[in-house]
Amino acid sequence: MRRFRCPSCQHEVFFPNTACLYCGSVLGFAPGGGFSLIGDDNPACANRATIDCNWIAPEPGALCLSCRHTTVVPDLTVEGNVEKWARIETAKRRLIRLLYRLELPLNDAEGNPAPVFELKGDPIDTGKPRVLTGHENGTITLNIVEADDAEREAMRSAMGEPYRTLSGHVRHEVAHHYFEALTGNDPAQREALRAVFGDDRADYGEALKAHYENGPPADWAQSFISSYATAHPYEDFAETWAHVMHVLDGLETARAFSLVGADLPEDLHDLALRPMERLAESWVALSVSLNAVNQAMGHETFYPFVLSPTVIAKMEAIRALITRNWQL
Ligand SMILES: [Zn+2]
Ligand SMILES: [Zn+2]
Ligand SMILES: [Zn+2]
Repeated sequence: MRRFRCPSCQHEVFFPNTACLYCGSVLGFAPGGGFSLIGDDNPACANRATIDCNWIAPEPGALCLSCRHTTVVPDLTVEGNVEKWARIETAKRRLIRLLYRLELPLNDAEGNPAPVFELKGDPIDTGKPRVLTGHENGTITLNIVEADDAEREAMRSAMGEPYRTLSGHVRHEVAHHYFEALTGNDPAQREALRAVFGDDRADYGEALKAHYENGPPADWAQSFISSYATAHPYEDFAETWAHVMHVLDGLETARAFSLVGADLPEDLHDLALRPMERLAESWVALSVSLNAVNQAMGHETFYPFVLSPTVIAKMEAIRALITRNWQL
């Protein structure tokens, strides 16, 4: 994330802010620019009153670019659901800004928003099936229980994961959509990814079953970003894609606060044009220091992952896929 200023008083404004904390101006964000004053020219998103969405809508009464990608919202009569929805949308706005800046398509062939999110809570009746987070044909289902910190931490611990966040979830799930959207009509591109991630035609259900029964291979960390990535080439792609997003957003932020060298470009778009080997070098140096700072404060590790040369090569394949059609 880059840094933003209030258009009225020039004080710093942070990405989730709905108003300037210094002068009180009511502000709205547009992913192609920064913050503007909300008004007739810059109407607020229709979800602003409910979930504090701080983005600008194309016209009064309309949804913003991010909110239009949510087609199902949880039952708002259930206590706590408005807050959970709001937290998921905050992570999603960061994601949509990244996708927008990386020139990834945000519509399908008919011009409808894609991918779309369905945000659902588990049924009150505990005998009914739980909502499973996942992706199918451009629709991402997210169980809103993930927006509850205590529940998410309990799941993280039960699954033996080093990291579980809303940003991680949404970045992982959109990867499944873009795998199809960017390579579905391009057999050569699909083959190129198979050479890096393995054959995605392997039976998905069987592979997942085997993963949950047997766990990952002992030496998984040499070639995979996470143990879950070993389950199937689709999951390897999605896990690795999420880390490309983490590294790009993380480095852009670090660059904006002068935490990495000025030899790296400030702009996300320009950063994404640097080879992953170079980006990983800065990212690893930054995460080693931030891990230590976090631990000094008694927090969990900032970035509990190892980027092996094989993992960096996989990330480079994704970076190249994203930027391959950019007009330079
Ligand atoms: Zn201000
Ligand atoms: Zn919105
Ligand atoms: Zn997945």
